[in-house]
Amino acid sequence: MDRITIEGWLREDDPARLAELWAEADAARRRQVGDQVHLRGLIECSNHCRRACHYCGLRAGNRGLRRYRLDDACIRACARQARELGYGTVVLQAGEDPAFGQDRVADLVRAIKDEAGLAITLSLGERSPAELAAWRAAGADRYLLRFETADADLYARIHPPLAGQPAGDRLGQLRLLGELGYEVGSGIMVGLPGQTLADLAHSIHLFGDLGLHMVGVGPYIRHPDTPLAIEPAGPLVGDVTTTCKVVALTRLHCPGINIPATSALATIDPADGREAALRCGANVLMPNLTPVAYRADYAIYPDKACIAEAAEQCHGCTQARIRRLGREPGCGNGTAPFYRAQQEVGA
Ligand code: SAH
Repeated sequence: MDRITIEGWLREDDPARLAELWAEADAARRRQVGDQVHLRGLIECSNHCRRACHYCGLRAGNRGLRRYRLDDACIRACARQARELGYGTVVLQAGEDPAFGQDRVADLVRAIKDEAGLAITLSLGERSPAELAAWRAAGADRYLLRFETADADLYARIHPPLAGQPAGDRLGQLRLLGELGYEVGSGIMVGLPGQTLADLAHSIHLFGDLGLHMVGVGPYIRHPDTPLAIEPAGPLVGDVTTTCKVVALTRLHCPGINIPATSALATIDPADGREAALRCGANVLMPNLTPVAYRADYAIYPDKACIAEAAEQCHGCTQARIRRLGREPGCGNGTAPFYRAQQEVGA
């Protein structure tokens, strides 16, 4: 699909035409990745962050946040719980926290592999090539780093570099992650102030050009303690329908990848946000395994969904939602078919 066609679909608001888009994306999802909904247990390891991203509540300088770090024993216990609940993967996510340095994370990856035997996804921000290589060598399977928007000017405005450093290069990092053999995930927010439909179309195209194996798309949610909150909204609205259009077009443009139904969608529509995405191309859910005492503090945006439920409750709720859609919880570690195909060609 070229960018003009994608943009045309993003502009579409005729319900009958949109019903066709949802159906086509759902059929592509079934053909390519089947009816299993894969579960990734999310462990929010730390909300300390050295960056000052204009959209994110974890940004350095936000004094209204109680900062925490899970210790290694706690993270390992969460991973063992993921295994007991039958998940094939855990995601270790955090602000860009230097306390999670090269050796500590490599040791954690080895320990979790030993004890729980799970596929491990890291989402620890922009890191040095040495760190990314060391974690891959220790056994990390996947890395998630969203490029947030394909519009370079908008990105530069909302994502300042670290003091005294050159501008970060997330696209370069994503290419490096691919070269290191990671299964690579990225994605964007929908509805950032100043974002346009042309930018969304460009972003979807870029998912394909970067050869991503996973793409997460969520609505931008205003956080009052961030600089972006005072910018006027528009011209785009980050609602469920626009986000679902991006999900559906991503499935059609990059058929063999994994696409999560994101927590941000659950936050703007707790009853049906995730389901809407699962009906138009998504095939992954990320139940939260973070100990309840810390969940509210991982406030990338306000009023996050599922902050009061313990892992067992998230587990039960997730299973019920999957069954209600007539789908089945995934087994195995849910490697993207597109990644598997690349490995077989390379082998
Ligand atoms: N520090 C890591 C991981 C934590 S943030 C990183 O930056 O990659 C994970 C994702 O949350 C970000 O990539 C961003 O897309 C999303 N996010 C942050 N602030 C948000 C907001 N206000 N609304 C919606 N999504 C947000």
